[in-house]
Amino acid sequence: MSETRRAAEGRVGQVKEVTSLANPIVKDIRALALKKYRDVQGAFMAEGLKLVIDALDLGWTIRTLVFARSQRGNATVEKAAARAKAAGGLVLEVPEKVLTAITRRDNPQSVLGVFSQRWIPLKDIRPASGDVWVALDRVRDPGNLGTVIRTVDAVGAKGVILVGDTTDPWSLETVRATMGSIFAVPVARADAAAFIGWHKAAKMRLVGTHLKGSVDYRAPDYAKGPLVLLMGNEQQGLTDDLARACDTLIRIPQAGRADSLNLAVATGVALYEMRRHAFPVTQGKAG
Ligand code: SAM
Repeated sequence: MSETRRAAEGRVGQVKEVTSLANPIVKDIRALALKKYRDVQGAFMAEGLKLVIDALDLGWTIRTLVFARSQRGNATVEKAAARAKAAGGLVLEVPEKVLTAITRRDNPQSVLGVFSQRWIPLKDIRPASGDVWVALDRVRDPGNLGTVIRTVDAVGAKGVILVGDTTDPWSLETVRATMGSIFAVPVARADAAAFIGWHKAAKMRLVGTHLKGSVDYRAPDYAKGPLVLLMGNEQQGLTDDLARACDTLIRIPQAGRADSLNLAVATGVALYEMRRHAFPVTQGKAG
């Protein structure tokens, strides 16, 4: 919902009970299912009380917190609602059928938040030695993108750069697949030419993954300098221009009949190798 509408309706900081799907605020939230409206509103939805609390803790701007009527009196929900209100957000109490309609799910989560999107400009990335970023060339599948964002978070990499025309990181499917990591991982975007120009100027070593890569992924010394791990599109792999721009093209060996690994799985395998030093082997106690 636009700031103008909120101000006009004089509802900032109010808890509002809404029962109708025809309510204009509910309509605005339902519209966020479509990229067109997410772009117009610069907003996205995230489901679940834990996610909403994590997002508030991390300083994300909440526009609306919606909770199920059945949660009235739940101290944790009411505390989150109070925080949302204190941050200038709108709080809606709705029947479950409204949450079902918004999330297009039976048995929806009882809390959801509408947040402002946050893109990090490429020029603001200041890579330091030891940093690893992941760049995704034209990633199409929301589940893959969400899983990569979650993996980047888990492995302690710095963020994700979307290259070219990609699926939307702010879609409900992607946000669901990130399991909350969307709030912890910076996301940037660029076309291929701008990305190549940026990596050269930033002196980031560009390590591409390719089925025809000449280097086994375990061979390079990844400790040298900040790195970008570049992954190819699910159907076509990397474009020739991007493959040519890479300093190294690595390959993950395969033993069976599969043509390739799933994009998110390949990202996880390569990232854990690059970040191996961050996970020293600890000996378990003898039982
Ligand atoms: N048909 C595509 C091709 O020819 O590249 C397959 C793409 S694969 C599903 C998606 C991406 O995952 C690849 O572009 C690459 O980045 C990565 N990938 C998958 N398996 C890989 C492997 N064995 N070695 C290196 N990268 C791999």
